[in-house]
Amino acid sequence: MKCPIDQVELDLAGRTFKCNTCDGAWVLEDVLVAMLEQSASTLVALPWKPRPVDQIRPCATCGAAMQTVSLGTVALDRCAEHGVWFDAHELADILGQAKQFKDKTPTPHESLLHRLAHVFKH
Ligand SMILES: [Zn+2]
Ligand SMILES: [Zn+2]
Repeated sequence: MKCPIDQVELDLAGRTFKCNTCDGAWVLEDVLVAMLEQSASTLVALPWKPRPVDQIRPCATCGAAMQTVSLGTVALDRCAEHGVWFDAHELADILGQAKQFKDKTPTPHESLLHRLAHVFKH
């Protein structure tokens, strides 16, 4: 895998891949979710938002142009199939905001209770 910015080989660093030149990090999306869930101590859903394109960067894995997206207040580049690119310090920023990504969709248990409540009302 190559750094989208300076094209050097990324080094495995724990669950992420790091660039020793620019200090950026390449994170697979399921790994990112797991890291955020650990940080927030709850299930999270990632509210990706599109942002204006400033610079097109190639995916570290497949080389295709990545989407410019944002998550919380952090501007990121994402290949939906392969992963997410974090510039230096952005990964720490996003982990600090993890709690705001709490998954609001009801768990199957909650939705069952909701359905039962509905049934008994009528
Ligand atoms: Zn780099
Ligand atoms: Zn890709």
